Amino acid sequence: MKGQILIVSGPSGSGKSTLLSRLLKEEKDLYFSISTTTRAPRQGEAHGVNYYFTDEKEFKKGIDEGEFLEWACVHNNYYGTSLKPVLRALDAGKIAIFDIDVQGFNIAKSKLGGLITSVFITTANKSELNFRLSNRGTDSAQTIQKRLENAVGEMEHILEYDYFLVNDDLQSCYENLRSILRSMRLRTLSLNVEEIIKNWNN
Ligand code: ADP
Ligand code: 5GP
Repeated sequence: MKGQILIVSGPSGSGKSTLLSRLLKEEKDLYFSISTTTRAPRQGEAHGVNYYFTDEKEFKKGIDEGEFLEWACVHNNYYGTSLKPVLRALDAGKIAIFDIDVQGFNIAKSKLGGLITSVFITTANKSELNFRLSNRGTDSAQTIQKRLENAVGEMEHILEYDYFLVNDDLQSCYENLRSILRSMRLRTLSLNVEEIIKNWNN
C-alpha cells in the first residue's frame, strides 16, 4: 500500500483549518503534516498541534540541514514542511495532508508530483475574506491587510490545482472536500496489485 498527498492551499481565512480539522476527525488513515513556522502562535494555538513554532535562526538551520521537503516565506514569516514524518506516513500507506501556500505547493509538486492531489479553497469574494479574518479576531488590522493583498496574488494560481472549492456554505464545501479525499482512496496509485491478484485468483 502506497500513500498519497493531499495539498490544500488558498487565502488565509478561507477556512482551510476549519475544513481540515473536521476531515481529520471524521476520516481514517490520514496524517496531517504539522508545519514549522517562525510566525508567533495565535491565541488557542499550541506547539506541536497547529504548528511547531520556532525562531528564524533555528528555521534557517533546518533549511541548511535539509530538514524540509519545501519551505517558503509567506506574509514575512517562514513556513516549512518536514520531510521525514511525511515519508513515514507515505510508507504506512496514509494520505498526508499539507495546508501550504502556492509557492510550497509548486516545490512539493516538483519533488513528489505523482503522489499529489491538490485543492485550492477560497471564499465567495474578497469582502467575505476580510469579514472572516476580522471576525476570527486573531490578527491585527495590519496583518489582515497584508493577508488580503496576498490573497489576490494567490488567486492567480487557481489553475495549477486539480480542484477548486468555494467555501461559502461550510457543509457543502466540506462534503466536496471529503469526496475528493474519497476519490483519492480509489486511485490505482495506492493499490497493492500483487495482493489483489493473489486474492482474486483464490
Ligand atoms: P484558514 O485556515 O484558511 O486561515 P480558518 O479555518 O481559520 O481559515 O477560517 C477563518 C475563519 O472563518 C474562522 O473564524 C472560521 O470559523 C470561519 N469560517 C470557516 N469556514 C466558514 C464558512 N463556510 N462560513 C463562515 N465562516 C467560516
Ligand atoms: P497562517 O499563518 O494563516 O497559519 O498560514 C499562512 C499561510 O502559510 C497559509 O497560506 C498556509 O497554507 C501557509 N503555510 C502553512 N504551513 C506552510 C508550510 O509548511 N509551507 C508553506 N509553503 N506554506 C505554509
